[in-house]
Amino acid sequence: AQERYASIRDTDCVTKDGHYISLQMNAGLMADLPSLESSGANGVGLFRTELQFLIRNQMPRRTELAALYKRVLDAAQGKRVVFRTLDIGSDKVLPYMKPHDEPNPALGWRAIRVALDRPGVMRMQLQALIRAAEGRNLTIMFPFIAQFSEYKLARNEVDTVLAREKRLGHAVPERLEIGAMLETPSLAYAPQQFFDEVEFLSIGGNDLKQFFFAADRENERVRRRYDTLSVSFLSFLEGIVGRCEGTNTHLSFCGEDAGRPIEALCLAAVGLRNLSMRPASIGPVKSLLMRYSLAEIRKVIDESGARGDESVRAAVMEYLRQNG
Ligand code: PEP
Ligand code: MG
Repeated sequence: AQERYASIRDTDCVTKDGHYISLQMNAGLMADLPSLESSGANGVGLFRTELQFLIRNQMPRRTELAALYKRVLDAAQGKRVVFRTLDIGSDKVLPYMKPHDEPNPALGWRAIRVALDRPGVMRMQLQALIRAAEGRNLTIMFPFIAQFSEYKLARNEVDTVLAREKRLGHAVPERLEIGAMLETPSLAYAPQQFFDEVEFLSIGGNDLKQFFFAADRENERVRRRYDTLSVSFLSFLEGIVGRCEGTNTHLSFCGEDAGRPIEALCLAAVGLRNLSMRPASIGPVKSLLMRYSLAEIRKVIDESGARGDESVRAAVMEYLRQNG
């Protein structure tokens, strides 16, 4: 199988009915960079910047971060890298920050909420990113945006840092692209203006699913209780696809499910055209997607839903078995 994946590494992922699906990789450590070459990823759809903060025993410095980000951009050789700003709290706790005892960390003071309330660290990080990208494209994504105003405030932070860099006479990125993660159901119902304004969205399926089903992703008792291929969840995702199509907003999916071949196939069938996953998943996902027609899978999904199935998994598996 490994050989088969190697042989399609440089092949575009195009389904039987001609849909091109961009497959990107998730990363966060310098050790991930060689995978950019070896996996055949079209770019880095999610760079989890908090990993660099989590592996240290003290806050990294701006110059150190800028050097790291520069190495990432160098390794990407012009491919798009989506840098997600610090996503801490909940399951990701920095050893050198005062822990906050919260009854419900997943619903608590985390990610962009921390960044907006205590903007110092994010400002430092934004400055490092802007300096690292001088003269190149820079893509920044904010985690855990639950409503439009949070996106506007976060975006303002970027504008402020950028203006300051220019005033200081520093080189700035050639182009800046700013987007948000869609990880809370609320954001799917944000006003039209949000979808007009945001430059791209990436569905954080791990968090989105935990909030959609109210099932803690860290809790072994419940984390596998609800199927990603539930008719309810897929139709919710499809609604997001529809809203993004209405405003021509670039949409991707970067949760773990994007790296599971059957899930990836169904995500593509409901309209997701950009999937970001761990590098080792790119081969298996590409290999499966290239063998099927999204229109056919779509039909199987619709028929399963019409029959009242809770999950389309059995129907899709059966279809794959018969048409393998
Ligand atoms: C997600 O929530 O799906 C996601 C990609 O972010 P993380 O897993 O880092 O929370
Ligand atoms: Mg998340």
